[in-house]
Amino acid sequence: MTEKALRVADDMVVGIDYTLRLDDGEVVDSSADGEPLEYLHGYGEIIPGLEKALQGLVVGDKKEVTIEPDDAYGEYDDESFQLVPLDIFPDDLELEEGMELHMRDSETGQVLQAFVAEVQEEAVLLDLNHPLAGETLIFNVEIVSLRPATDEELDHGHVHGAEHHH
Ligand code: ZN
Repeated sequence: MTEKALRVADDMVVGIDYTLRLDDGEVVDSSADGEPLEYLHGYGEIIPGLEKALQGLVVGDKKEVTIEPDDAYGEYDDESFQLVPLDIFPDDLELEEGMELHMRDSETGQVLQAFVAEVQEEAVLLDLNHPLAGETLIFNVEIVSLRPATDEELDHGHVHGAEHHH
C-alpha cells in the first residue's frame, strides 16, 4: 500500500526548523534552541515570500530561500514616524531609545508595533517600521512535520499548539 506523501499546501499545519540570516550573514532568528515553528499554511501567519517558497515541499525537504524586502517586512519608510505626547504613557513606564511598544490604534483597533526612536521633553518620536524593514532575508528551512489542520484551527486561522489552548 502506498500513501501519497503530504505536501505543504493551504490548510496544512507545517512544522519548520529554520535559521534566518540577513544578507551580511548576521543570524537574527532561529528555531535551533527550541521547538520547531508550527504555522498554518495559506493564512498569512508567516511572511508571504517564505510561504510561497515552501509550497509543495514534503517532510525532510531543506531549502534556502532569499526574500527581498517587498515579500518580507517591506522597505524602510523614512516617513513612518510618529510624534506622540509623553503624557499618554503611564507615569511608571521608563521610556528608552530602542524600546518596543505595542499600541492600539483608536480608530482601527489594530495593534501597532513601534520602537522608541527619541525621547524628547514633552513627546516621544516613534519609529513604526518593522525592525526587519528594508532587509533582504535569507531563510534556511527544513520541513519537519506536516498534518492537515483541524476544523477549529481553520476556523481560527492559526495553529493550536501546546502553547495555544483556548
Ligand atoms: Zn485559536
